Amino acid sequence: MAKEKKLFAEYNNLYKDIGKDELEACMNFAEEYKTFLDISKTEREFVKNAIEAAEDIGFKDISKKKSLKAGDKVYQSIKDKGLVLAVVGKRPLTDGFNILGAHVDSPRLDLKPNPIYEDTEAVYFKTHYYGGIKKYQWTTIPLAIHGVIYTTDGVKHEITVGEKEDDPIFYITDLLPHLGNEQMKKTANEFIPGEDLNVVIGGMPLKAKGKENEKEPYKAFILKYLNDNYGICEKDFVTGELEIVPAAKARDVGFDRAFIAGYGHDDRVCAYPALMATFAQEKPNKTCICMLTDKEEIGSYANSGAQSVLYENFLMEILAKTGDGSVDILKFRKVIAASKMLSTDVSNAYDPKYSSVSDPKNSAYMSHGLKLEKYVGARGKSGTNEATGDFVAEITGIFEKNSIPWQTGELGKVDAGGGGTISAYMAKFGMSVIDAGVPVWSMHAPYEMISKIDLYYTYLAYKAFIENI
Ligand code: MN
Ligand code: MN
Repeated sequence: MAKEKKLFAEYNNLYKDIGKDELEACMNFAEEYKTFLDISKTEREFVKNAIEAAEDIGFKDISKKKSLKAGDKVYQSIKDKGLVLAVVGKRPLTDGFNILGAHVDSPRLDLKPNPIYEDTEAVYFKTHYYGGIKKYQWTTIPLAIHGVIYTTDGVKHEITVGEKEDDPIFYITDLLPHLGNEQMKKTANEFIPGEDLNVVIGGMPLKAKGKENEKEPYKAFILKYLNDNYGICEKDFVTGELEIVPAAKARDVGFDRAFIAGYGHDDRVCAYPALMATFAQEKPNKTCICMLTDKEEIGSYANSGAQSVLYENFLMEILAKTGDGSVDILKFRKVIAASKMLSTDVSNAYDPKYSSVSDPKNSAYMSHGLKLEKYVGARGKSGTNEATGDFVAEITGIFEKNSIPWQTGELGKVDAGGGGTISAYMAKFGMSVIDAGVPVWSMHAPYEMISKIDLYYTYLAYKAFIENI
């Protein structure tokens, strides 16, 4: 007898019915994710670690391969800040690629090109925030610095300070409540202005012989320290890609350890399972692609963002190298148009403390699994991709067949706000795209929260998608 169809839609908490073995698999997956998250706090670090892990299981830089056949695994670094990987499938590329696309940049504070200054015997870095943040959340928390800086001889100097137990951290001050009367009258958007996000980096004067009368002795101390330890001078900061991020490590939340708090879940909590689902492929039917893009938080621009042709070039190179080495542009356009993609980006989870911004009937809930979002955008669906009904049916059909739980919803209620992902930039190629990712609490905060069971089933969902679509 055919399975009885459920008349009412039901979306359940997945911890309710999970078996012992599966719960163990879920908890183990979460441990591996936390480890990867802790060493991947910037887009550069995520890409570097992803390449290392990929090479360990046989992925090769595509430039080193003359031709490609089914089962070949290749990747291309996109300016060291984005990454695209492929596992070549058995079917002809005219059937299209199966694509998972996430982003690996997260909101943070970047150093200004001329960042160092001294004021009243303390030394600071000036910053310019990157992405949508609530500025007040970045004061009085332990901060680390991660990134690279170049000297004019072209040498790259890597700097990571604030992560080891005995490292110093960095710090943005806030006003004591005793004197906060005027500050507290301001709106949350105003009381910590962007220009006040200055990070304390030192407070000792340079006492070296002959330098006692240095005009800015405290700044001189820091400049000397940086030169001694990294070989850099003040002017080199113009080359810097230095990011101030929370110094905290990812931690379990709750007595039952149901959740994980961490920096940069958006969007590494989707990038990681997308990468793992790709790593699980040996000789798939269709060619599987994993895109890990940069600059999503500021509009997917620059040569490493999803709008860059470098991602497209990689797909073109696969087409060329699985064929006779040449590319017919019309054929390529048709291959991309036949492709199918999950835009694997996070969305908000319904938060009962802030229920007024959500429509409870059209919200994703923590621990209810992957959130499928037909469209994102803001105010009248402005600026969004929208998945077609038949594509949604194809996806939900695959999930049903593979017993993958999913839920759906919008990012907040109508006119409450909104957001975007990379899906619109990919849909312009004609491919079918839908947003599908892990629901998050406190999205874009320095320390965000997700549910372990959502992460686990999202991994299984991504895997089912690339293996079955
Ligand atoms: Mn995102
Ligand atoms: Mn975001």
